[in-house]
Amino acid sequence: MRILLVEDEPTLRAQVRTGLQEAGYVIDEADNGRDAQHLGATEPFDAVVLDLGLPVLDGLSVLKRWREAGHTLPVLILTARDSWHEKVAGIDAGADDYLAKPFHMEELLARVRALIRRAQGLASPLLQCGTLALDTRSSRVTLAGQTISLTSHEFRLLAYLMHRPGSVVSRTELTEHMYAQDFDRDSNTIEVFVGRLRRKLPPQAIETVRGMGYRLVAPS
Ligand code: CA
Repeated sequence: MRILLVEDEPTLRAQVRTGLQEAGYVIDEADNGRDAQHLGATEPFDAVVLDLGLPVLDGLSVLKRWREAGHTLPVLILTARDSWHEKVAGIDAGADDYLAKPFHMEELLARVRALIRRAQGLASPLLQCGTLALDTRSSRVTLAGQTISLTSHEFRLLAYLMHRPGSVVSRTELTEHMYAQDFDRDSNTIEVFVGRLRRKLPPQAIETVRGMGYRLVAPS
């Protein structure tokens, strides 16, 4: 899952980035509204954390431009403490949720998890596909109740597939959601990670759909 983090204050941005990365997300960053607006309009993010007070172009304008252009990406806005009017303006501009500064990282993570699963039409933070389960709160993966140990790449790959059970996901789509923009992307490496992940899952759990991509199938 790939997240756009927009915050101009370097210390806070670094803290949030670290927290999100530790939770298994891939992060692209912007420190001003113009760059943020461009990134959100051109890259397929799973969620956005958007500060409202930004240089060049304010966060509310960024959000309005995305929504006017029809971009439905889930957006969590960061508002000033006690500023109820910012929350109202933000939600009216198309924000999906808000968080007032200062906040606890745990609350930001919970809100991001909720945004991502709601965008996929998923009700529970525990994602299940047959006997395979991924708890988005703890980043723990189990198969028939037994914990499976995954590398960060394997986890990102499985998390993306688990958010789209039964759907065919192309290698390009997986690449776009597993790597940040500045990363040297090579969709062939996806095959390598799929191979490694398959060895930790039941046979046929990740089905190859010829010429299209991969599909997660409930292990029986
Ligand atoms: Ca700011």
